[in-house]
Amino acid sequence: MQTLAALLQEVRGCQLCAGLPLGPKPILQAESDAKILIAGQAPGANTHEKGRPFDDASGDRLRHWLGVDKACFYDPGRFAILPMGFCFPGAIIRHGRRQGDKPPRPECAPAWRKQLLSHLPNVELTLLLGTYALDWHLPEHRGLTLEATDWQTHWPKLLVLPHPSPRNGLWLKRHPEFEANVIPKLQQRVSGLLGLN
Ligand code: SF4
Repeated sequence: MQTLAALLQEVRGCQLCAGLPLGPKPILQAESDAKILIAGQAPGANTHEKGRPFDDASGDRLRHWLGVDKACFYDPGRFAILPMGFCFPGAIIRHGRRQGDKPPRPECAPAWRKQLLSHLPNVELTLLLGTYALDWHLPEHRGLTLEATDWQTHWPKLLVLPHPSPRNGLWLKRHPEFEANVIPKLQQRVSGLLGLN
């Protein structure tokens, strides 16, 4: 069986998607010891530039939710970060204005996801961010929204999170129970898994 290091090297050289506006630049992290998997959507243009996932305000909020600092978060032996598409898929432009990013490239998950996950036998908690991750990891929930997905259904192995983007502040305001009830349990679980107590 191919090693994870060899597989990651292959992924980082992937040229499968034609027409990526900034070209292929897969952004992911993983080591076989990782205890927590973060399954997000796809890198944005800033992440493409920086080459590091969640190195922005969304990441600051996500780390706050997890109760970890950057050093811990970017340790691939603790957190595997595998979005549904590894490269920036491009922006949606309407009437000359940017309306957000395109969905993760559909080639990516079929090409790489199962192989990569098979190298992560120690993952005990999977965090899903966004509908593409939800649909892939929980196909029985396909088409459901975050609100319709009871967070306790798959706890403590899996948790569906809202996107931590500052643009998602309205959802958080409408669901104060999320930060009041879910986040403390998440922090406790992360701390226990990573031996941070
Ligand atoms: S998005 Fe995925 S499949 Fe497409 S080029 Fe990047 S790594 Fe390859």
